[in-house]
Amino acid sequence: MTSTRTIGHWADGTDFAGGSDRTAPVTNPATGAVSGQVALATAEDARTVIASAATAFPSWRDTSLAKRTAILFNFRELLNARKDELATIITAEHGKVLSDALGEVSRGQEVVEFACGIPHLLKGSMSENASTNVDVASIRQPLGVVGIIGPFNFPAMVPMWFFPIAIAAGNTVVFKPSEKDPSAALWMARLWAEAGLPAGVFNVLQGDKVAVDELLTNPTVKAVSFVGSTPIAQYVYATGTAHGKRVQALGGAKNHAVILPDADLDLAADAMVNAGFGSAGERCMAISACVAVGPIANELVAKISDRARTLKTGDGTRDADMGPLVTKAHRDRVASYIDAGETDGAKVVVDGRNVTADGADGGFWLGPTLLDHVTPEMSVYTDEIFGPVLSVVRVQTYDEALALINANPYGNGTAIFTNDGGAARRFQNEVEVGMVGINVPVPVPMAYYSFGGWRSSLFGDTHAHGTEGVHFFTRGKVVTTRWLDPSHGGINLGFPQNN
Ligand code: NAD
Repeated sequence: MTSTRTIGHWADGTDFAGGSDRTAPVTNPATGAVSGQVALATAEDARTVIASAATAFPSWRDTSLAKRTAILFNFRELLNARKDELATIITAEHGKVLSDALGEVSRGQEVVEFACGIPHLLKGSMSENASTNVDVASIRQPLGVVGIIGPFNFPAMVPMWFFPIAIAAGNTVVFKPSEKDPSAALWMARLWAEAGLPAGVFNVLQGDKVAVDELLTNPTVKAVSFVGSTPIAQYVYATGTAHGKRVQALGGAKNHAVILPDADLDLAADAMVNAGFGSAGERCMAISACVAVGPIANELVAKISDRARTLKTGDGTRDADMGPLVTKAHRDRVASYIDAGETDGAKVVVDGRNVTADGADGGFWLGPTLLDHVTPEMSVYTDEIFGPVLSVVRVQTYDEALALINANPYGNGTAIFTNDGGAARRFQNEVEVGMVGINVPVPVPMAYYSFGGWRSSLFGDTHAHGTEGVHFFTRGKVVTTRWLDPSHGGINLGFPQNN
C-alpha cells in the first residue's frame, strides 16, 4: 500500500515544497505501509530555508526578552495541551508505543520550561570602577542562524534539547529531522507559528546528506547541533569545524549496567527490562550490556528472563509494552546480530526473532531478546545494535566490570546497582562515562543539567541543554566603558593600565 502524501519543508512561516525531484518513503513500522513521501532537499532548497532564517535573525535578536519569553510560554502551553497529537504522529512514523511517545514529548517540554527562564539565564555581570571611572560588563549575544540535525529515534525530544534554548537566546533555527520520521518537525513548526513566533525564526529542512552538507558548509550557519550515529557525528564535527562553525555532535552508545552481588536483584531485573527493552532498545541511553558480578549471574538471568517473557510486543496504538523497529532493514540488521551472537557461542535465553506480535503481519516485529554468556569479542557486544537485545556479560570482580566499561570506545551512559554506598561512590569517580546512574538505569539528566557522553559518544566540548546549552547558543562579549570626566588624563600611547 502506498500513499501520495508529500512531506515538505517549512520556511518563512509556511509550507515550502522545494524544487527537488528526490523523495524517500516514510513507513508506519507497525503495518509496513508507506504513509508518505518526504522531500529530500537540493542544496538550492537548503539555501532557501537558510535564507529564511537569516532574514528573520536581525529583528528576532532585537525582540525584547519579555516578548521572547511570552512566546515561549505560549509554546509550552500549546504543547502541553496538545501533546497527544504529537505522540500520535511519533508512534505512526517511529513505532514506539504511545505512552513512550508521550514520555518523549514530556522530556522535551522540560527543556521548553527551562528556556522560559531565559531572562535569568542570559544575565551578564558588571564591575563598576574596574579602573578609575572605567566600568566593565560581560554580556552574551546570540550567534545567528543555527542548524539542528536530528536522529530517527527521538523525533521530538532531541530537537527540543536544542531549539527552545537557541530560539530563546535570540538565534534563528533550521532543523533537519531524520528522513525516517519527518512529520513531528512540521507539527512543531505549526505550533510555533500558533504561539506567535515570527516567520523564519524556526524552519524545517527535510533531506539527507545533501541538506546536511549545505548546513555544514554554508557560511550563514554559525553553529550546528547534531545527534546521530558515531561515524556521522564524527563527519559532522570535522566538516562543520573546518568551515568555522561551533559544533556539538552527539554520537552512538553502548551502555553497560553493573550489577554487584549485594544489589537488590528484583530491582535490578526490573531496571534491566525497562532500560533494555523500552522503546525497543532504540534509545541512546538504553542498557545493552548487563555486567553481572560474581555469584549472582544465574539468579539475575532467571529474573530478567521471567520478566522479559511477559512483555507484549505489538502495535504502539494498542495495549503493547514494546512496538516494532523503525524499518524492515533495521529489524533485519538487529536480528542478524542475534544470529551472530548465537553462532559465536552466546546462549539465547529469550528469543525475539519469531515473536507473535499484536499487530499487522507487515510490521517490523522483533521481540525482547536476552543473551547470556556474551564475551567482549562477540559482535553482539562490540557493536551498537540499537534494538531490543540485552547481553549479559559475566565477570568475577568490580574491577573487571569497570575495566570493561572504560575500555569501550563509547561513553554515553552507565549504571551501577548496589546497596553499598562506598562502591557506588567509587564507581561514579572511576567510570569514564558522561552520565552515571546509581540504582537508576536510564540516567537522562533534567533539563537544567546538561546531557552528553564522553569519548566517541560526543564530539565537541559542549553538552546539550542546561547552562552548557545556553553557552553553546550564545557568545560572550566584554564591554569596557569610560565616560569622560575632566580627569581622563589626555593622550597616552601606552598599553592601558589600571589605576
Ligand atoms: P544517523 O547517524 O543515521 O542519522 C542522524 C542524522 O544524520 C539524520 O538526520 C540523517 O539524515 C543524517 N545523516 C545520515 N547519514 C548521513 C551522511 N552520510 N551524511 C550526512 N548526514 C547524514 O542516526 P540514526 O540512525 O537516525 O539515529 C540513531 C543513532 O543516533 C544511534 O547511533 C544512537 O545512539 C544515536 N543517538 C545518540 C544520542 C545521544 O544523545 N548521544 C541520542 C539519540 C540517538
